[in-house]
Amino acid sequence: MNTCEWCGLPTRAGGNHNSINGCVAALKKNITNLFKQIGEPSQCRGCGAEIYWVVHRSGKRAPYTPLGLNHFADCPAAASFKKD
Ligand SMILES: [Zn+2]
Ligand SMILES: [Zn+2]
Repeated sequence: MNTCEWCGLPTRAGGNHNSINGCVAALKKNITNLFKQIGEPSQCRGCGAEIYWVVHRSGKRAPYTPLGLNHFADCPAAASFKKD
């Protein structure tokens, strides 16, 4: 039996687990690797979540989660963030 190299699940277990797009773990790893290249790893001061600071072309910095979500949008403590 083949197992997914990213999450360890049997690749036949899920109907769409035979491609990287069917594996959440693989997607997360890909996005995390991307952020490791373009972003600065950090930790949210509001909730302690793992985040990556990414500088946009406009020069603004935005915090992203390893899943690629903007942490301003999903942080339970977002109201405590202040722009520098
Ligand atoms: Zn997988
Ligand atoms: Zn947070």
